[in-house]
Amino acid sequence: MTQEEYIHREALYGAHNYHPLPVVLTKGKGVFVWDTDGRRYFDFLSAYSAVNQGHCHERIVSALVRQASQLALTSRAFYNDKLGEWAEYVSRLFGYDKMLPMNSGAEGVETALKLARKWAYKVKGVAHDRAKIVVCDGNFHGRTISVISMSSDPDARNDYGPYTEGFINIPFDDTDALEHALSQPDVAAFLTEPVQAEAGVIVPRDGFLLKVRELCDHYNALFIADEIQTGIARTGRMLAVDYESVRPDILILGKALSGGMYPVSCVLADDEVMLTIRAGEHGSTYGGNPLAAAVSMEALQVVQDENLAANSMTMGKLFRDRMQACDSPMIAEVRGKGLLNAVSVRPKAGKTAWDICLAMKERGLLAKPTHDHTIRFTPPLTITAEQMADALEIITEAFKKA
Ligand SMILES: *Cc1c(COP(=O)(O)O)cnc(C)c1O
Repeated sequence: MTQEEYIHREALYGAHNYHPLPVVLTKGKGVFVWDTDGRRYFDFLSAYSAVNQGHCHERIVSALVRQASQLALTSRAFYNDKLGEWAEYVSRLFGYDKMLPMNSGAEGVETALKLARKWAYKVKGVAHDRAKIVVCDGNFHGRTISVISMSSDPDARNDYGPYTEGFINIPFDDTDALEHALSQPDVAAFLTEPVQAEAGVIVPRDGFLLKVRELCDHYNALFIADEIQTGIARTGRMLAVDYESVRPDILILGKALSGGMYPVSCVLADDEVMLTIRAGEHGSTYGGNPLAAAVSMEALQVVQDENLAANSMTMGKLFRDRMQACDSPMIAEVRGKGLLNAVSVRPKAGKTAWDICLAMKERGLLAKPTHDHTIRFTPPLTITAEQMADALEIITEAFKKA
């Protein structure tokens, strides 16, 4: 079958809720993926940072295969011998009393919102059904109805109302607006991404997270960090909040928590928050299954054993230095942290970010525009200096020849 035929069949029988780059992939290894015609590409999206450990990492594949042939799913009606081991592993690694397992990132966010509301009623003493959660404009926390109720993106929101109540939107990286919002009555929590990834890799000013911590403490509100995309070494530290040595009250992880092998998310918190939800008050059929547990432990161990945070830091600097030195009128700005980077594209003679992505694809590198004029560059964190040099050659060529 030709790639056109694969694309046609998917469009005929699949919903049209995505607009992919026209390339049909069939194989992946490390930083590379291959299309159905056998052409190899650098993957500079990494499934939105789910594949930080590289495609089909041997250790993670083995963990998956081993556990899949042993026991895959029990539901939480019974105990399994893996969930406790994983919960201990993740809680110790990130320094929290407990974790709560889910599957998709959006479910992790929903869980964090539920925990914050329960905590508001049971611990803080907010009156019944009055709890508010402060969120940022430009956020991306997933696609459920409650999560898009927080969104300021018309594409994510429009025609999905009525929306879930109880959110206060403020500008991102605006601690005056945050203080004003937190000083209102009935505020349970402030939820933010440490770097807004989907919005186009918006890095807040230094000191933002420290100030968030201080304000949340002062006004007795929980600080919830959505590190689904920024976490697990993507920004050059294990967590993006590590840059300011800040500890959120609730930490949400997903994506690379399984190295792209299986949908796994979780929420971490201390007992004061976590134990407000009791048996029967929240759950998921697949959440905490032994397959997810085995895969996630291996995926996290790989990040540590291969020093992926340090490599992300070094390779990210290489990327930004080279791109900032690149002399193309279409490059408006290069920004990011570690290997979470973006280039703002200034359209030229009708050429846009999409055309740059097509030009890079022709040269053997895959990336995708976010919000029309921004291209995110997020390769697997296993990328070597030599591979990065080759990739930068392709990227700078595409910008110069556009
Ligand atoms: C991807 C993402 C989500 C949603 O994760 P899904 O697994 O797609 O539901 C939530 N928050 C952030 C910051 C993300 O990047």
